[in-house]
Amino acid sequence: MEGLMQDWPLLVHTVLDHASTYHGDREIVSRTVEGPIHRYTYKDLNARSKQLASVVEKLGIKHGDVIGTMAWNGYRHMEVWYGLMGVGAIAHTLNPRLFAEQLDYIINHAEDKAFFLDLTFVPILEAIQDKLPTIETFVIMTDEDHMPDTSLRNATCYETLIADGDPEFAWPRLDENTACGMCYTSGTTGNPKGVVYSHRSNVLHALSSCAGDAVALKSTDAIMPVVPMFHANAWSFVYSSPMCGAKMVMPGPLMDGASIYELLETEKVTLTAAVPTIWLMLLQHLEETKAPLPHLERVVIGGSACPPAMIEAFEKNYGTDVIHAWGMTEMSPLGTLCTFKGGLDHLSEDELWEIKKKQGRPPYSVEMKITGDDGNELPRDGVAFGNLKVRGPAVARAYFKNEGGEILDEDGFFDTGDVSTLDEYGYMNITDRSKDVIKSGGEWISSIDLENLAVAHPDVAEAAVIGIAHPKWDERPLLICVLKEGTSPSKEDIIEFMTGKIAKWWMPDDVAFIDEIPHTATGKISKLTLRETFKDYELPTVQAAE
Ligand code: ADP
Repeated sequence: MEGLMQDWPLLVHTVLDHASTYHGDREIVSRTVEGPIHRYTYKDLNARSKQLASVVEKLGIKHGDVIGTMAWNGYRHMEVWYGLMGVGAIAHTLNPRLFAEQLDYIINHAEDKAFFLDLTFVPILEAIQDKLPTIETFVIMTDEDHMPDTSLRNATCYETLIADGDPEFAWPRLDENTACGMCYTSGTTGNPKGVVYSHRSNVLHALSSCAGDAVALKSTDAIMPVVPMFHANAWSFVYSSPMCGAKMVMPGPLMDGASIYELLETEKVTLTAAVPTIWLMLLQHLEETKAPLPHLERVVIGGSACPPAMIEAFEKNYGTDVIHAWGMTEMSPLGTLCTFKGGLDHLSEDELWEIKKKQGRPPYSVEMKITGDDGNELPRDGVAFGNLKVRGPAVARAYFKNEGGEILDEDGFFDTGDVSTLDEYGYMNITDRSKDVIKSGGEWISSIDLENLAVAHPDVAEAAVIGIAHPKWDERPLLICVLKEGTSPSKEDIIEFMTGKIAKWWMPDDVAFIDEIPHTATGKISKLTLRETFKDYELPTVQAAE
């Protein structure tokens, strides 16, 4: 027997319909590339997304076409997403921090038919457009007054394009499994691979991210997603915020500490989200200016491990609750969020702090297990660690054009490439990316644990740990530090600070000081670059072993 409920496809435009009907006057505030702060409402977002949807045919854009976007977090970028997705086209976000060759590869692989870009990125696309034969039109997301003199093919002004569009456009009723978004993983090994989201996966993912034990979004919140829309869907805030009717604050191109602080304060932001490097800049700014942070209630930190020292700084100094989160492009991206659950009252403060530092637990719709290399599941005891595998309606089942072939195990689980523990309460803790874990004497050392400990040293601004070849132990850890301005601790000072806080055999064999730690396009420490830089490094312990 079939259920007798309505067939109501989970389409992303339903989120906009809801927001404009029930939260129509809630504001979206954007810092624009042109300079000024722009304000409008969900009603406006809805109308202008429809205006765009009604005119894209003029550009030859139709159902199933992949359309590139390279833009900051702002109102026009949201209109482009909703407008394209609503007609069955696929918004393909490009990260401007990628190298030109990676951009060429990705755009050609995806076969982007048209391309929407912010003014900032005109030079990037001008330089590579000759290698991008599939793109017929470049739409510059600005008004006539700001249109640049550009060689971009069929350069079109966004505001002129949508000016005659229909704000009452009727969305077509698509199948909920229709593709709507695409994002390539940075591919630290091999070529980047395209992850293709569907309307259904995006709506389900947004719903589960709103839950009280996840991000707990409310219409009374003012949300600032600092995490870019070109990095794993801005962690769903473009869908989840309108779903809940929260005010949105979009930071545009400026993500330094002072600019972020200005918006947090003037717009009374209650919730924000980004990778740890952004918060490092904000915390430094706050330290320097002694400014308060009275409105910010919670901050979601993920994308790479959030050092416990950062959680402490937010919570103790500013009363801001940190939600440590983990996820990946292939998971839309949220996989776990660290909030306390019911039934933990018996735990001591120290035990709760141990949980707080973890990456968290999955919301409904994410299944998770850890396995050994033989594929057998490992115990959920907080000690055993193994390959972290996931399954769910917003987890990829294949890459675009089937790159990489079969990516699921026989039970339909996707191997995340991360190594983690799962504890008895369901909390997951990342030990490392499997390729970054340091293999010493047949045992594993977590680079993340060592980095977290090193940055707790008052003079260390940022730290990275990589494995260096060692004749006796296979690999030994090298700690690489960037120091805070005006400090000059010795290697021995740092090692002494770490002594007693970790197993003796985990202790780095050496400490190197550098001016800047290289980061990837998604804000992670680039271990690949560091391994390259330190490939001939000889540890002081090597001679002793020989
Ligand atoms: P990329 O394209 O750079 O792989 P993703 O954002 O998809 O971009 O990266 C996902 C990976 O980032 C995860 O597999 C994990 O290794 C790492 N990661 C994300 N969040 C965390 C976290 N909170 N702690 C540790 N690692 C994290």
